[in-house]
Amino acid sequence: MERAGLYIHIPFCVRRCAYCDFVSYAGREDAMEAYVAALLSEMESVFWRFPALAVPTVYVGGGTPSSLPPGLIARVLGRARELFAIGPDAEITVEANPETASARKLTEYARAGVNRLSLGLQSASSRILEAIGRLHNAEDFERAASFAREAGIENIGADVMYGLPGQTTGDHARALAAAVDAGAKHVSAYALTLAEGTPLDAAVREGAVSLPNEDEQYAMYLAGDDFLEAHGLLRYEVSNYAAPGRECRHNLSYWRNEPYVGLGAAAHSCIDTGDGAIRTENVPGLDEYIARAARGESPIMRSIRIGREESMFETMMLGLRLVDGVDTDAFCARYGAKAGEVFAGPVERLARSEMIRMEKGRLKPTGKGLDFHTLVALEFLGK
Ligand code: SF4
Repeated sequence: MERAGLYIHIPFCVRRCAYCDFVSYAGREDAMEAYVAALLSEMESVFWRFPALAVPTVYVGGGTPSSLPPGLIARVLGRARELFAIGPDAEITVEANPETASARKLTEYARAGVNRLSLGLQSASSRILEAIGRLHNAEDFERAASFAREAGIENIGADVMYGLPGQTTGDHARALAAAVDAGAKHVSAYALTLAEGTPLDAAVREGAVSLPNEDEQYAMYLAGDDFLEAHGLLRYEVSNYAAPGRECRHNLSYWRNEPYVGLGAAAHSCIDTGDGAIRTENVPGLDEYIARAARGESPIMRSIRIGREESMFETMMLGLRLVDGVDTDAFCARYGAKAGEVFAGPVERLARSEMIRMEKGRLKPTGKGLDFHTLVALEFLGK
């Protein structure tokens, strides 16, 4: 493998949000230094496997990377630059939450080469933010965005959510307006997923909290879609919008089913072996991840080979999340087979129901196909 995106997982948060089921730990400041040391040793082992790896994109995600004390992100990125070929045009993103994105940290990130910041706004309403356990408000978000710009990071993305407790379409519109007003060039707008076992799930079951119903959520999504498009942020993926040229290149590589290396607790990798792909998954436990590194052991707990059939399915399913869809010539070059023939049944049925269409050598989802992407994926699954 000569080229892959690099994902670095920072599993620390100041406090757990009420809806969160990601691998993240609150109150573990004691483990931060040791975790970063473990990350660096995993990074070195990747280097020994792939000594000439070109890395076009780096994404430091979490968790909340900005919850690390100053110095640590720069240390991680500095080592990545020493070990991998990260060119001057590489996209280097760090995720941050507004309350921990201080001017000092953002200046340090910019000096370490970070050129894209993904800020978790979620909502501009203090009432809603409190209900979902967030520690910031809309002003903190604005301040963090201006700190980023002052530090020289112009490419700012904002994450917002809809379907939140007590949220109205007006609330959602205000969050999107806050993102646009703060200069966000990229917005990820996700519907809340009520994950089982989270405090929010328990509160909803007990009737202490109520969520917007499906129709209300759909109205929020439609209003959001109109608002963002009217402000020059164009939809390029089911839930992602960007000003032209500001699409997240790192995430695009996932949707194009390209190789990536994930470092850190719970991180996944998809390694191109030249003879198919191998997907690996690291241990999720923070202490176990650190302990394995200290013992000189691999953090990988699971590894599976992705067969050709599965890889073709994933390329279609992921690619049809993109407005641009799947390049059928590239598909043919990669697999030695035509997408329209391998998936003749689903392609024909989806085209007939106006969910996908063929345009200039690309199989693209229609607006309806994007809105009902899950149905599109199910068609391919049952090919
Ligand atoms: S900031 Fe993100 S990762 Fe951390 S608790 Fe909240 S939702 Fe989970």
